[in-house]
Amino acid sequence: METCIFCKIVKGEIPSSKVYEDNEFLAFLDIGPIHKGHTLLIPKEHHEDLFTMPDNLLELMSGILKKVGAAVMKGTKADGINVGMNNKPAAGQIVFHAHYHIIPRFKGDGLRHWPQGKYENPEEMQKYSDIIKQNL
Ligand code: AMP
Ligand code: ZN
Repeated sequence: METCIFCKIVKGEIPSSKVYEDNEFLAFLDIGPIHKGHTLLIPKEHHEDLFTMPDNLLELMSGILKKVGAAVMKGTKADGINVGMNNKPAAGQIVFHAHYHIIPRFKGDGLRHWPQGKYENPEEMQKYSDIIKQNL
């Protein structure tokens, strides 16, 4: 897609620090890393987000995610990784070309997990599992 910044990276029109490339996928360093080595994995083909990714491409991407994730962890000597994907502006998506974030994590690195809320009661929790099931 013409104006998409990640498509421009795929085409080599803007530079990136590539860590992995094959026919379908590209992984490169995020320019604003949470920790150094924070990597983005993208399909070369333009798809806006998780929901518009074809199933077969998403399946293939999981294998690459595992491979690149392991390399990020080993290369940065991290104790773990977070894998994340922002979908839609409400979830913080700012680049509308589907991508996974692979974020190295270190013991005691001070990053806080998302705050945990709670359900009012078991019935409310059941209601949420029901509405999600009804939409599968
Ligand atoms: P989001 O859409 O919220 O998942 O965020 C997009 C991510 O892309 C951010 O973490 C940015 O730092 C990163 N980003 C944006 N432009 C570039 C670029 N040219 N090269 C590498 N990373 C980028
Ligand atoms: Zn794109």
